[in-house]
Amino acid sequence: MSLKQNLENIKSQLPKHVTLVAVSKTKPVKDLMEIYEAGQRIFGENKIQEMAEKYDTMPKDIEWHMIGHVQTNKVKYMAPFVSLIHGVERFKVLKEINKQALKNDRVIECLLQIKIAEEDSKFGMSPQEASTILQSKEFSSLKNVKVTGVMGMATFTDNNSQVSQEFKRLKTVFEELKLLNAHNCQLEIVSMGMSGDYKLAIDCGSTMVRIGSSIFGDRN
Ligand SMILES: *Cc1c(COP(=O)(O)O)cnc(C)c1O
Repeated sequence: MSLKQNLENIKSQLPKHVTLVAVSKTKPVKDLMEIYEAGQRIFGENKIQEMAEKYDTMPKDIEWHMIGHVQTNKVKYMAPFVSLIHGVERFKVLKEINKQALKNDRVIECLLQIKIAEEDSKFGMSPQEASTILQSKEFSSLKNVKVTGVMGMATFTDNNSQVSQEFKRLKTVFEELKLLNAHNCQLEIVSMGMSGDYKLAIDCGSTMVRIGSSIFGDRN
């Protein structure tokens, strides 16, 4: 199957309210352009240098999403153009995003990454930390960031009931954070679900799926 067919196949399975991020990390621009030509405009990358290079060479109506771990010293390289940063795990990072967004005269949208998996290897903050950040005075003074939702990754396992429990937990955390009505927030996005688990994620309330290998094929 062509990449375009893969894309159409995935899209045909997504409800209208679910946004598709095509995760293009490690893939060449030629592959990205193939699905760009088929209408895809949102791409997800996890390395800043690779994302910046692709941004430079590709059409400017693309939305670039940073889906990887964000280091404070790398924020300045994405601040001029990034559309959404999924993996904000620490207040310190949010403050740096605010600083760099201000320099670029932008408001940058961010998702708080919440740890929902049992595995220790998965990144993220606790729901309690997220709630504390959103309610803090310091956060309400950050005028150049806007928290638009949450992101999470489930445990890598065949146990579907565990995966859906973790996804449901993220959805619940999202609803709870929404009730805080915090400043600089407009909570709308629940970013969860990848190639192996996006159907489950959608059943559990995902509004944004991040799909790589089911569109572009396996990564080396
Ligand atoms: C790589 C990656 C994905 C996509 O994974 P696939 O299994 O290839 O769909 C989604 N989210 C994050 C955070 C990733 O790093």
